Amino acid sequence: MRLVEEVLNQLPGDVFGGLQKCDRLLTSLRENTAPIPQVVSQSNLHLETIDWDVVICGGTLGILIGCALVKRGLRVALLERGVLRGREQEWNISRSELEVFLELDLLSQQELVNVIATEYNPARVSFLGGTEVCVQDVLNIGVDPVYLLETLKNKFLAAGGKLFENTAFDCAVVHPNGVLISHTFSTRLLLDAMGSFSPIVGQARQAKKPDGICLVVGSCAQGFAPNSTGDLLASFTPVLNNCQYFWEAFPAKDGRTTYLFTYMDLNAQHIGIETLFAEYLRLLPEYQGVLLNQLQIQRALFGFFPAYRQQLYFPWGRILPIGDSSGNQSPLSFGGFGSMVRHLKRLTLGISEALATEQLSAPALKLLQPYQPNLSVTWLFQKAMRVGVGQKLNPNQINTLLSAVFAQMQQLGEPVLKPFLQDVVQFSGLTQTLLKTALNYPLLIAQVIPQVGIVSLFDWMWHYINLGLYTVLFKLGSKLLKRVKYISPAEQYYYHRMLDKWQYGSGYDLY
Ligand SMILES: Cc1cc2nc3c(=O)[nH]c(=O)nc-3n(C[C@H](O)[C@H](O)[C@H](O)COP(=O)(O)OP(=O)(O)OC[C@H]3O[C@@H](n4cnc5c(N)ncnc54)[C@H](O)[C@@H]3O)c2cc1C
Repeated sequence: MRLVEEVLNQLPGDVFGGLQKCDRLLTSLRENTAPIPQVVSQSNLHLETIDWDVVICGGTLGILIGCALVKRGLRVALLERGVLRGREQEWNISRSELEVFLELDLLSQQELVNVIATEYNPARVSFLGGTEVCVQDVLNIGVDPVYLLETLKNKFLAAGGKLFENTAFDCAVVHPNGVLISHTFSTRLLLDAMGSFSPIVGQARQAKKPDGICLVVGSCAQGFAPNSTGDLLASFTPVLNNCQYFWEAFPAKDGRTTYLFTYMDLNAQHIGIETLFAEYLRLLPEYQGVLLNQLQIQRALFGFFPAYRQQLYFPWGRILPIGDSSGNQSPLSFGGFGSMVRHLKRLTLGISEALATEQLSAPALKLLQPYQPNLSVTWLFQKAMRVGVGQKLNPNQINTLLSAVFAQMQQLGEPVLKPFLQDVVQFSGLTQTLLKTALNYPLLIAQVIPQVGIVSLFDWMWHYINLGLYTVLFKLGSKLLKRVKYISPAEQYYYHRMLDKWQYGSGYDLY
């Protein structure tokens, strides 16, 4: 552990202290010791005046939707507890997903070019002693968060949005005609963009423990041999410390980024962030063929992502979670920026329509947080990629399983492989992959069943059936429903949400 402290203390700021704080937060989540926040209450009285259509609390991804809504003529305020500024470390995404910024008129062509800090090809997927797959143009674009957020902030202000920095959300009272935030800001709708640890989410979930968690550590460093390729998912060790370690690597603006991540349940006996960082420093030389002392580390990266199987719904009207607080990101990749970008058009149009038609009750807003079977099916995959404390497992089982599955996907070709790697699971690709894997490796599949458990398997089947159903409904139902005419604006709100639900829930938003 002393090496972790030594390495992190060479960086500006108290990075080691930050890592220890992160570990303490992880421990309190595992032990469920944090008090349940009480920040939202309700009142039957009407507010006298309402100053805003939308108040967004939390600026990182909040500014994306803030900018889109203010451009549609809505009165929008954004509260950020610190200063609104993107992080230095790039967000990875695929190029086609960025088109929405042009479509919603958030960025010009030139600004979109400027937002892209790096681009690499190909990206590799590889597992110990098994398959190696290379793909082009998948999550290979590094977006510069500093430039993106600064550009959107300026557009937001120019279009009439109001930014309140160093202004933390404190509490909210939901009235019949609006929400009063921190005793000061009155609004028709509150968007909670305060991330995974939002106090509003904490209250809504009532201290429910996450169903899974992903720990990630890494760095951006200089001193590697020139390498213009990347890894999306690589593993070169068997199960160690009750963890299957996965690696990511890609060129970055300030050097090369490398991450080590692992999935686990919330058992307190699992390793923490500091131990994982020590493992990262131990294994990085083998992974990238470099000595630690050849590297000049620019910054250290660490965190953890809680994930819940149940979709989050707020019990109050007039409040909607967006970004990481919504839990809409994949439990496999945790690409919250990518997820927000993918849902940006749906949310912009849906929120505008909810406001225009006064559909702001809890059941009406629930439709903007739809159940997505294509995400829910990935839960089983997370379970198959993690090891319980004390669980007896062949140390190479996870590598062997992933090797087999990716080999089948490679044979099925890019239309199957690429959506999966972009966090979009589709019924036909999933069915073909599972059938092929089951036929070619029946023993392997039989070994996975006790690992994931029969209950999880039945739960997965339910989501899988729904995925098929949503696919049929999207393909057939949406064609029929598009012919529906002469319905009221409020009814349109409901039928647009139904179309969105089928499209996004079946993974057909990708095309
Ligand atoms: C190491 C690492 C690498 C990642 N790489 C990628 C990637 O390559 N691609 C990708 O898509 N995603 C990636 N992610 C995930 C991505 O960074 C998150 O999904 C994204 O930051 C979520 O943004 P958010 O605004 O929802 O939440 P957060 O990032 O948690 O931001 C919450 C915001 O709310 C503010 N806030 C909090 N509390 C209050 C309050 N009380 N009042 C007012 N404001 C408040 C915070 O200051 C902050 O601005 C990565 C994450 C990590 C940790």
